[in-house]
Amino acid sequence: MPNPDLPFLGVHLTLMMDGGVTVGPNAVMGFAREGYPKWSMNRKDIADFVTFPGFWKIARKQLKTGAVEQWNSVYKPGYLELVRKYCPQLTTADLTPEPAGIRAQAVRKDGSMVEDFLFYDTPRMLHVCNAPSPAATSAMPIGDLIASKVLNRG
Ligand SMILES: Cc1cc2nc3c(=O)[nH]c(=O)nc-3n(C[C@H](O)[C@H](O)[C@H](O)COP(=O)(O)OP(=O)(O)OC[C@H]3O[C@@H](n4cnc5c(N)ncnc54)[C@H](O)[C@@H]3O)c2cc1C
Repeated sequence: MPNPDLPFLGVHLTLMMDGGVTVGPNAVMGFAREGYPKWSMNRKDIADFVTFPGFWKIARKQLKTGAVEQWNSVYKPGYLELVRKYCPQLTTADLTPEPAGIRAQAVRKDGSMVEDFLFYDTPRMLHVCNAPSPAATSAMPIGDLIASKVLNRG
């Protein structure tokens, strides 16, 4: 079962339209906002989160989960053990890498995660501060909402 304190789905297998099966995605801490390749790091992004109090609060609370996810993302047999609870016939050879996605997640100063869509209006701008899953599925209604917010400005 996914951990209800975290906005991630846990281990799951998805049958794709081409007949293949994807396993995951797992979810690990990113060290660069735009870091799609593995091991990406950005000094400024790291400085941003380590100086944000909410990060340390969430890090304390989710230390064990985070460490296990991070470890299983580099140690295939660890991840395989979780996956085999659902599909025992899989072997490490079946786990081939897929490109990573970046899941931006807004966190408040008190360490809680913003679980809904979050917009912030300033006189000349509308900021989309949090667009978590299922924002891809809801892209059209979100687009409508953003357009109407902008167009209905006084
Ligand atoms: C692995 C994974 C699985 C997911 N599965 C689902 C799912 O099944 N269903 C679902 O509904 N949602 C899913 N989501 C969530 C969904 O992808 C996001 O909620 C959605 O993409 C958010 O849309 P966005 O436009 O806010 O951000 P993004 O899609 O992340 O787009 C932001 C864009 O801005 C660009 N950008 C960033 N910084 C700069 C800059 N400084 N200058 C110029 N460009 C910049 C980025 O390159 C990126 O193209 C998933 C996410 C991940 C990571």
